[in-house]
Amino acid sequence: MPMNATPHVDYAIEPAPRPAVPVVGGGWFPVRRIYCVARNYAAHAREMGGDPEREAPFFFTKPADAIVPVAEGETGRFPYPLATHDVHHEVELVVALGRGGTNLTVEEAANCIWGYAVGLDMTRRDLQAEAKAKGRPWDIAKAFDAAAPISAVRPAAGHVAAAGEIRLDINGKPRQRGDLADMIWSVPEIIAYFSRFYRLQPGDLIFTGTPEGVGPVQVGDRLYGAVEGVGGLSLEVVEEH
Ligand code: MN
Repeated sequence: MPMNATPHVDYAIEPAPRPAVPVVGGGWFPVRRIYCVARNYAAHAREMGGDPEREAPFFFTKPADAIVPVAEGETGRFPYPLATHDVHHEVELVVALGRGGTNLTVEEAANCIWGYAVGLDMTRRDLQAEAKAKGRPWDIAKAFDAAAPISAVRPAAGHVAAAGEIRLDINGKPRQRGDLADMIWSVPEIIAYFSRFYRLQPGDLIFTGTPEGVGPVQVGDRLYGAVEGVGGLSLEVVEEH
């Protein structure tokens, strides 16, 4: 038993259900943590005012219950979040880990890969700009409710996704276009790097960064994100309530 596990089930209040994502072909992938990589595509790093030649990518997290799981063939609902007027889409390849560890080599990291999904790193860009200007953490911009819509996980144990189109359309119009081959850090390099700071475990998800073309969404918009060889994610932006 992990040292932070509860030794009994006599809970004082009803515990929240464990977040989980459907698996292509059946079953559910239980989510433990969500790690995210920032600025992993050079063109997006530049559009956010960064310099990919001089900056290493860096990291943030989202709570596991921020996922909005969307099964194949369904359209999910993304409630326009509170306290913002500028919510942006960031389409990303998501890696689902079936194994973990610390201080992994790149080869060991590849063996932790259980599968892949298409995710949206939804971002309250106005609150992020304020956080950046004041030197504050990004949590309020990145870690809000429903901030991580995600498609079904496609099993691909040990497979390194290194190339393939990644894209996002809004109302049928292209907004983001990129290729996994343009990632600055590869999937195994990201996993290995993270394992130097955290004990990775089965059930962890890693959002691997977004290509250029991020922008705002509005209530009523229909989003479609896709990664070649992985799948697609359909989402409608609805009123918060
Ligand atoms: Mn992102």
